[in-house]
Amino acid sequence: MPAIPAIGDRTARYMDIPEAAKGPDVDPAKGYRLQDFGGGLYMITDNVYQSMFLVYDKGVVVVDAPPLYAAKIQQGIAEVTDKPITHLIYSHAHKDHIGGAKAIGGNPVIIAHAETARLLKRAADPDRPVPSVTFQDKYTLNVGGKKLELSYFGNAHEPGNIYIRAPEQKVLMVVDVIFPGWMPWRRFAVAQDVPAVFAQVEDIRKMKGWDTLVGGHVARTGTRADVDVQAEFYADLKKAAGGALATTKLGEGMDPKDQTNPWALFDNYIDRVALQCVNTLTPKWATRLGGYDAWIWDQCFAMEQSMRIEEG
Ligand SMILES: [Zn+2]
Repeated sequence: MPAIPAIGDRTARYMDIPEAAKGPDVDPAKGYRLQDFGGGLYMITDNVYQSMFLVYDKGVVVVDAPPLYAAKIQQGIAEVTDKPITHLIYSHAHKDHIGGAKAIGGNPVIIAHAETARLLKRAADPDRPVPSVTFQDKYTLNVGGKKLELSYFGNAHEPGNIYIRAPEQKVLMVVDVIFPGWMPWRRFAVAQDVPAVFAQVEDIRKMKGWDTLVGGHVARTGTRADVDVQAEFYADLKKAAGGALATTKLGEGMDPKDQTNPWALFDNYIDRVALQCVNTLTPKWATRLGGYDAWIWDQCFAMEQSMRIEEG
C-alpha cells in the first residue's frame, strides 16, 4: 500500500500522476491551449484552470476569466476570430475563476446568477464587476443562432454556481464539482454544502444532453466515465468514513485527565476516524486519482464532519 504521509508531515516527493489524469500539453511559449468543440465553441486552458468562449456572427461570449491566464484570452480568441467580446458569463463568484474579468478587456454584458451578483456586491472587488444581467432558475443566451443554456440547481459548491450547457456541442460546464482523473480539490472543493455536492455529482451523471464536461480545473475535459469514477470514489469515501465513525470509540486510549477536555476528546477521536478512513481508501484509490496523496486527509476530515453533524 502506498504510504500517505501523516498530517503535518511534508513529503519529499508526491506520488506520480496517473496517465488517466493527464491531458494534452500546453505550449509553454503561449501559456494556454485551445480545444475546439465545434460550432464556434472552444475551451481555453492552462491545464490548471479551464474556461470557454463561443464565437457567433457578431461577437464572442466568454465563460469565466481565470486570472492566471485572463490576459491571454484575447490572444486565444484572436487565433480563431477578430470579433469583439460582447458577453461574459460567470460560472460563480470565486475570484480564481472570474478575477480576470477586467483583464479580458472590452465592455461585455456580464451574465450570472442572482446569488453571484449578491456575493460580488458584497466583495466590491474591482477585478470582478457585478453582473448586469441576472437570473434565478434558468437563462438561455441566444446569439446569432447559437445557444448557451444556464441553469441553477441550488447551493452546493457555492451559492450561485450554475451549470452551463451548449446543446449543439453537447458540452456541459460545471465548475468545481467534477475533477476528471483527479482527486477533487480539498474538502470536496471547499464545498459549502457537502451533501448537496454529492447530489450534484449524481444529477450530472443522470443529466442527458452532454458528452463532454468542462470542470473548470485540471488538464483535460471529462467524460461520463469520469463522473462515474468520481461518484464511485465519493461512495467509497462515505463508506470508509461511516465505517470509521461506527467503530471508533470516543476517548479510547486517552489519558484520563484529558477525558474532561472536550476539545482534546474530539481532536483525538476525529484524528483516529480520519486515519482509518485514509487507510481504507488508499489501496484502491492512491494510484487511480491524480493528487490523491495531496488531499485525502482533507477529504476524510470533511466527510467525517459532514456525516457526524449534517446527516440524519
Ligand atoms: Zn469555486
